[in-house]
Amino acid sequence: MSSAFPPALSRLIKNLERLPGVGEKTATRFALQILRWPKAQAQELVRSIAELHDKIGLCSICFTFSERDPCPVCADTKRDTSVVCVVENPGDLLALEKAGAFRGRYHVLHGVLAPMEGIGPDQLKIRELLERIQKEDIREVILATSSTVAGEATSAFLAESLKKYGVQVTRIACGIPMGMDLKYADQMTLQKALEARTSY
Ligand SMILES: [Zn+2]
Repeated sequence: MSSAFPPALSRLIKNLERLPGVGEKTATRFALQILRWPKAQAQELVRSIAELHDKIGLCSICFTFSERDPCPVCADTKRDTSVVCVVENPGDLLALEKAGAFRGRYHVLHGVLAPMEGIGPDQLKIRELLERIQKEDIREVILATSSTVAGEATSAFLAESLKKYGVQVTRIACGIPMGMDLKYADQMTLQKALEARTSY
């Protein structure tokens, strides 16, 4: 479809298609919209993309994306440094921060174990996590990877790797989402929710 377009437009469509969840149709819609923008607005988009790699790096403590090192969370002296919450991606850290329920620090893995795709422990920030356990005064590690097959496998691997360090290792609960009717929950979710029940 895009071959009927001028090469510059096709190139932008191809680049936009690399974004998650963006197919050719959406990419074409985005590209045509950008073309309709005033030039200054398009240039602003280009500038903001260009400065990403110059301005943003990884926090040397938790490995989230940050303009400063350490990141604002790690630099916050009011936070509990004895608890570390392990998440898959910076987006998960952001979601937990928005919820405002956690006052410890984080550790961002930058993915989950996926042996079929060549992603093993060395491709994630796992060695860095084990180094932190030895270096910092950490009492508890909360494993907050997703409840997907890969997320569970990654958590199980981490729990096993952390055993010898004598820290408490916990896993976030998974179960029925707030506001959800029980009868719509799948078997696995119901089973997990029952296992993770709490007493009043
Ligand atoms: Zn940090």
